Amino acid sequence: MEQNYRTKPKEYILEFLESHTNMRFSAKEMYEEIIKAGYSINLATVYRNLDKLVEAGSLLKHFDNDTNCATYQYIENESCLAHFHFECKKCGKMIHLGKVETERFLKMVQNTLHFTVEPQNTYLTGLCSKCSGKFVVINF
Ligand SMILES: [Zn+2]
Ligand SMILES: [Zn+2]
Repeated sequence: MEQNYRTKPKEYILEFLESHTNMRFSAKEMYEEIIKAGYSINLATVYRNLDKLVEAGSLLKHFDNDTNCATYQYIENESCLAHFHFECKKCGKMIHLGKVETERFLKMVQNTLHFTVEPQNTYLTGLCSKCSGKFVVINF
């Protein structure tokens, strides 16, 4: 890791997101966390750092049409760029769909709608099994 090149807020952002891999955060939420951790920083710097981390391939940026703001998620491994994510609206839990299931789904969409989906931009929202009180059955 190029730790020497990391500025402190950037280091903190990465550490924070690394320890919350199944959640995503807006720049404003990150800003509040950084302030809480005792750093002095402005929101523009947070945006700049987040975008740098996206460029470096450490974070996924997702634009939320509902709230009209961008959110950021730590990429646990490269496979996060190639599969779907389901996000629980209640507890914020992120579920990663398997590669095979994602490919099957993409093929189905391509065959029926002739539409090519970009999986890295695909978050589906709903309720997790814990919050809905049901078991999840994936069956395409
Ligand atoms: Zn993932
Ligand atoms: Zn939930």
